[in-house]
Amino acid sequence: MIIHLKKEIGNAKAQGIAKANNAFLIEEANQYVLISSSGQKEIDPQFADAVTESFVFDSDIQLASRDYRSKTRKVTIGNVTIGGNTGNTLLIAGPCSVESETQIQESSALLKELNLTTLRGGCYKPRTSPYSFQGLGLEGLKLLKQMKEEHGLNVITEVRDATHVADVIEYSDVIQIGAKAMYDQGILRACAKTQKPVLIKRGFGTTLQEFVQCAEFVLSGGNPNVILCERGLRTFETKTRFTLDLCGVAYLKEYTNCPVVLDPSHAMGHAYGVPDLTRACVAMGIDGLLIEVHPNPKVAKSDASQQLNHQEFRDLVATLNPVAAAVNHKII
Ligand code: PEP
Ligand code: MN
Repeated sequence: MIIHLKKEIGNAKAQGIAKANNAFLIEEANQYVLISSSGQKEIDPQFADAVTESFVFDSDIQLASRDYRSKTRKVTIGNVTIGGNTGNTLLIAGPCSVESETQIQESSALLKELNLTTLRGGCYKPRTSPYSFQGLGLEGLKLLKQMKEEHGLNVITEVRDATHVADVIEYSDVIQIGAKAMYDQGILRACAKTQKPVLIKRGFGTTLQEFVQCAEFVLSGGNPNVILCERGLRTFETKTRFTLDLCGVAYLKEYTNCPVVLDPSHAMGHAYGVPDLTRACVAMGIDGLLIEVHPNPKVAKSDASQQLNHQEFRDLVATLNPVAAAVNHKII
């Protein structure tokens, strides 16, 4: 249940009511917001004077629900805003991993050339094998910060586990919680304490209910800036790396209020399919894309087979505006 309380009652009273209802308490500019389990359907009449509005739900998708906020949630990344009625589709691009200064400078130059604002690059990689490249760690975060300072780019990078979440929060403009890390409640709770945007990737075996409840951990802890990212599910199919769940995207758009970003690169797993898949994603009227691009994919230290080279990316970008325009969106 979500309960709005008058601001005039003051913090101590709001906390008392939150405690009595076993609820989270968020302080907004003109009200307090209490969030308790969806099992709660009514408020004790003794608190009625303090309440301005209340909302009941049939599941613990509450703050992220369209039933709570019919106008979708807007999230601002640097000087760009996605979600709500902005019609923006933010094209986020860059390598799977930050590998060297030369590499990330080349990626930054490509983004600048194409008037793009948001650079991706992992520094803590959740690899399937301990013997694979694990990322540059803090050194990589410092390179991303350098790209931000030298080129004015916003940077998004992933947190793999709770040991370095503070560093990722400090150095990034958007915190990416990876598909394998989205169940880590230490990460979710740490990301709830910042106001920086958090992009949560759906685990490859995660139901939509579980996925959106991960968002609820961040939202209920007081960070309203949550973005949901579909990146493919594991199915019986082996020819493609994963299966991109566009039906799930339709669900997220219909029932949640968070911006929805798609990652065709990890879903496909092979560069050849990424351009077509990207256009299919754009045609769904989504809020953003996450595309892996590398100056020389053949020598990439992670996800080599799925990264586009720079010319392939330029060619792809040149085709996107008409598709976006057909669904009243624009690529930014
Ligand atoms: C990535 O974005 O490089 C990544 C590791 O993605 P995912 O968490 O979706 O596998
Ligand atoms: Mn990757």
